[in-house]
Amino acid sequence: MQLAGIESVVLESRSRKDIEETIRAGVLEQGTVDLMNEIGAGARMMREGFPHEGIHLRFDGRDRRIDFPALTGGKKVMVYAQHEVIKDLVALRLQTGGEIRFEVSEVGLHGLDAEAPRVRYRQGGASHELGCDFIAGCDGTQGVSRPAIPAGVLSVYERIYPFGWYGILCNAPPSSDELIYALHERGFALVSTRSPEVQRMYLQVDPADKVENWSDERTWAEFRARLATRDGWLPKEGPIFHKVIVGMRSFVVEPMQHGRLFLAGDAAHVVPPTGAKGLNLAASDVRILARAIAAHYKSGSRELLQDYSATALRRIWKAQRFSWWMTSMLHRFPGGDAFQYRVQLSELDYVTSSRAASASLAENYVGLPLD
Ligand SMILES: Cc1cc2nc3c(=O)[nH]c(=O)nc-3n(C[C@H](O)[C@H](O)[C@H](O)COP(=O)(O)OP(=O)(O)OC[C@H]3O[C@@H](n4cnc5c(N)ncnc54)[C@H](O)[C@@H]3O)c2cc1C
Repeated sequence: MQLAGIESVVLESRSRKDIEETIRAGVLEQGTVDLMNEIGAGARMMREGFPHEGIHLRFDGRDRRIDFPALTGGKKVMVYAQHEVIKDLVALRLQTGGEIRFEVSEVGLHGLDAEAPRVRYRQGGASHELGCDFIAGCDGTQGVSRPAIPAGVLSVYERIYPFGWYGILCNAPPSSDELIYALHERGFALVSTRSPEVQRMYLQVDPADKVENWSDERTWAEFRARLATRDGWLPKEGPIFHKVIVGMRSFVVEPMQHGRLFLAGDAAHVVPPTGAKGLNLAASDVRILARAIAAHYKSGSRELLQDYSATALRRIWKAQRFSWWMTSMLHRFPGGDAFQYRVQLSELDYVTSSRAASASLAENYVGLPLD
């Protein structure tokens, strides 16, 4: 919007330091990479990020590779941590004269149905009010935007999974050049990476489990067991400096707009992380919304704004389907029997041996087109 000359103010409840240090997602779709470059925030990402041209699916003690460029006409993904994306976006906005008001509190949205909605908030002990034409509710799952929509307007679609992910960060060299998604009788494991020195790895666990139950010794023993291959592959181990357990759910509200409020990102939808889509969906939502707002100021037409929710949801539901499918294929479900496990192994065999099935996974992983 700033590039289109549209004035906006960003309100953020946390400090700049806090948002720039919160470690979360790390895989950027081709479209998110293109967006960062288009808006002029991509230089450091292109220098320091790691292009990945495939992933490995590990099952039955063997690896099968999905080759993204070969299956998608040259597309790939970029491994570049979300907090680095945030640093680049914040720096660009401040350098180019944009406003971000950090550490605001008591944010309230008013007059959503009126021509000029208002946002009230407190900062530094004082109360403030902003008048505006539109409000973008990009405040995540715990924000105030979604609850500001009157009861009865939104339909909620949700699935809670009976497992969570136990994630670690460790100081070690990469165990693999590309991400490894592994299905084992003991459960799912993921080998990811952040940099040549810092590795991100995950294990499927009970969502009620606690990190205190996972000593470093037990953690590495479990990774070795779930990632074992017939040719004796072992993960590269190192000191673990961060442990977290996150629940997994799929969640969507419809519509993503009410009056002059437009929801984007986790405020409107959540995906299980297996498809690496959460951050990317937030980016594609704001791209669709920014275009619609720009078109409104340019031509006076409200058409794209009226269609925002429907346009965004078509892509969101496809990413939901993909994330649900990857999650279902790669995790052991409590009570799942030997038959279910055989079907999962067979699906992985099919997905990695049929060009059509491999291409379907690849085109979804690198990101479906925006339009
Ligand atoms: C531990 C963890 C690991 C994850 N790993 C992955 C992964 O590997 N792959 C993946 O694709 N996705 C992952 N995700 C999901 C991904 O990070 C999110 O989908 C993504 O951050 C969504 O972006 P967003 O801008 O919509 O919301 P957020 O990133 O949550 O940003 C919302 C912002 O709004 C601010 N805010 C909240 N309330 C208010 C308020 N009232 N007023 C002002 N500001 C407010 C918050 O401080 C926050 O900065 C992970 C999430 C978590 C928590």
